[in-house]
Amino acid sequence: MTKEVLQPLAKPVYGAGGPTGTWRSQRPVLDKEKCTGCLLCWIYCPEAVIAREDRAIDYEYCKGCGLCARECPVGAIAMIREGEEA
Ligand code: SF4
Ligand code: SF4
Repeated sequence: MTKEVLQPLAKPVYGAGGPTGTWRSQRPVLDKEKCTGCLLCWIYCPEAVIAREDRAIDYEYCKGCGLCARECPVGAIAMIREGEEA
């Protein structure tokens, strides 16, 4: 399988309730020093808000579910309460 075949199943869009990021209580913060680029977070994110190229997270649509942090094999993603510093 070539890299070009890998695509997220869906693109984030405005839903009836607006951007999903508005009701998030925790946000994922990615440590690029620890990240190995395995792309598991990109694969598992149910909102498809992690960019494949640089793992930038679109906080407008990230709902704070924590799946990315749970699946990261090297602990490069921490879940931080909204309003707290990373
Ligand atoms: S917290 Fe959930 S929605 Fe947000 S980037 Fe991680 S997996 Fe995606
Ligand atoms: S799962 Fe962890 S190591 Fe893999 S790309 Fe995401 S942040 Fe980086």
